[in-house]
Amino acid sequence: MTGRVAGKVALITGAARGQGRSHALALAREGADIIAVDICAQPEWMNYPLATPGDLAETVDMVKGLDGRISPHIVDVRDKTALADAVDAGVAELGRLDIVIANAGVCPLGENEPESVWLETVSTNLTGVMNAIDVALPHLGAGASIIATGSFAGLTPQGVKNGPGGTGYSYAKRGVASLVNSLAIQLGPRNIRVNAVHPGNCNTPMLHSAPMYKVFRPDLDDPKREDVLDAFASTQIMPVPYVEPEDISNAVLFLSSDESRYVTGLQLKVDAGALLKAG
Ligand code: NAD
Repeated sequence: MTGRVAGKVALITGAARGQGRSHALALAREGADIIAVDICAQPEWMNYPLATPGDLAETVDMVKGLDGRISPHIVDVRDKTALADAVDAGVAELGRLDIVIANAGVCPLGENEPESVWLETVSTNLTGVMNAIDVALPHLGAGASIIATGSFAGLTPQGVKNGPGGTGYSYAKRGVASLVNSLAIQLGPRNIRVNAVHPGNCNTPMLHSAPMYKVFRPDLDDPKREDVLDAFASTQIMPVPYVEPEDISNAVLFLSSDESRYVTGLQLKVDAGALLKAG
């Protein structure tokens, strides 16, 4: 088998759509098998649609279309026991685990959200990342690679301010960056690497959600895609409204492969200059 991650198995959370699906396809194309986890349900506190079982089935078909093997699991990353069961089952099916991509996340922006949304956001975006890494660790050996998805919003001093979901989002993503540093120090002696990717605006359903559009165009009652593109672009130095999921996958693929065998503790921004622009 050939490919940059040939013979490896990757756990990917949030794999039903968006960046997670893109990572699954990028790694499968380069020879990896995939344990795909996604909630595929709608928690009552969420204010835009999350993935569906149909989305996860599409990811499965796409990976199989690349001749990859995939073990799909509908699981909430906040539920550590269920997540451990899913990962154990995936490893039993696919034989090993080499790569963890802790990517699942939510961004429920909105001025009128209750405080409980803050807690749910942190529990998904930060504790969910820790849960995925924790349940994977017993399966990981020397040479393994862990990649957590943060956000440029977690690296800016001001973060995202819109409502409890927004502040929870920034706080959790800042926590992801910090967690990556701590784990890189703890796991380096075992030859396990831990890195973060920090996307800027990325062309996925999270960015193209009604609450996000409203944050960028508060002057409009019901902003549409064409109404927000200039506002999206204004957050970045490079002249694009967003990067594509594949741009994040390119970084993830490098960090997953042995090409980055001595890269650990890296906070890799893929943000078209958004963090620099935010100052
Ligand atoms: P997305 O909404 O398309 O994908 C997120 C996926 O995570 C969905 O499939 C969703 O069902 C899943 N998910 C949500 N909660 C879950 C849970 N509790 N358990 C399991 N799965 C769950 O958005 P995306 O852009 O692909 O997001 C991927 C990551 O990138 C997230 O961590 C997000 O915060 C981060 N990010 C996104 C952007 C952006 O502009 N899109 C920018 C910076 C960072």
